[in-house]
Amino acid sequence: MINVTKAFLPPFEEYVKHLKGVWDREHLTNHGPLVNELEEKIKSYLGVPHFYFLNNGTVALQIAIKALELKGEIITTPFSYVATTSSIVWENAKPVFVDIDPGTLTIDASKIEAAITKNTSAILATHVYGIPCDVETIGGIAKRHKLKVIYDAAHAFGVKYKNASLLNYGDISTLSFHATKLYHTVEGGGITTSDDLLAHRISYMRNFGHKGQEEFWGVGINGKNSEFHAAMGLSNFPYIGPILESRKKLSETYDRLFEEMDIRVQRPVIPAQVEYNHAYYPVVFASEKQLLEVRDSLNASYIYPRRYFFPALNTLPYLGKTKSLPVSSSIASRVLCLPLYYGLSPDSVRQICAIMEKVLKY
Ligand SMILES: *Cc1c(COP(=O)(O)O)cnc(C)c1O
Repeated sequence: MINVTKAFLPPFEEYVKHLKGVWDREHLTNHGPLVNELEEKIKSYLGVPHFYFLNNGTVALQIAIKALELKGEIITTPFSYVATTSSIVWENAKPVFVDIDPGTLTIDASKIEAAITKNTSAILATHVYGIPCDVETIGGIAKRHKLKVIYDAAHAFGVKYKNASLLNYGDISTLSFHATKLYHTVEGGGITTSDDLLAHRISYMRNFGHKGQEEFWGVGINGKNSEFHAAMGLSNFPYIGPILESRKKLSETYDRLFEEMDIRVQRPVIPAQVEYNHAYYPVVFASEKQLLEVRDSLNASYIYPRRYFFPALNTLPYLGKTKSLPVSSSIASRVLCLPLYYGLSPDSVRQICAIMEKVLKY
């Protein structure tokens, strides 16, 4: 069986080595030494001034919205994982959807200004599949209209833009280290910002608002993560390079075989000056019918690609009526993510391409 992804597991002994220390110290959670070590390592790997390790990427989004005190309307993308939208609704703000760019599949920055009203407080956009949003245009719009910017960077670990971390754009970026993501801590997430005051707020918000044992800076939630999750993060850390490298190689294998076999699918555009992380391998078919035929044929061989991301988020049942967004609804109905993970064999990629070739004979 081949799934769309498979969690990376470090050598067992390397994880257990970290656990030995946990047993010796009997410090299981609440900002233990492994959490601190992981935060320092990730901060320097990503090249960001502040990084907080959290229990998941959804709480990261919710803390981001709370820390920026966002209210009213938040402009967002309909093409992302459900957590991007549900976090907005959960924090009692209203998502206002702007259609996506048909090339990069990220929010169409040229359509944002038309969606701004006097109630707009922020833009929450996703670097979907690790492809950077048009961060410069979005930054300009935010400045002109005094809006905050959050990037859901759950897919963007390790992505660089103009030779620096993509996470340095916006007021806050959030990360997910869920087992399905390219770098993971089983469950986990993170938050980055370059703003010192905001960083302080995030640091107490993730810990119930505590200021020492008996005082409180403000309202908070339990956003902490444990020594066991940090141990997985530390064990996986040395493999980030090989993980990125193998994903790149496998993506290039797909590209080459598509060319050789004349498999005609649309691929998202990676903008210039981006060092991409190959977080996913999405393909856009000519029609939903074609997508379903390919999926069914792959499933018959026990290969399970996933419809990331379907349906478009503006159609979520709890939102009521939203206006139609033709690009994202069309893309969402036709996009399929093919298997891509460390350890996937080039032979399996060949098998997947051969099945696609058969279905798509023109
Ligand atoms: C995975 C994901 C999240 C949520 O992260 P969790 O760690 O699973 O809570 C949020 N946004 C996007 C785009 C994601 O893919």
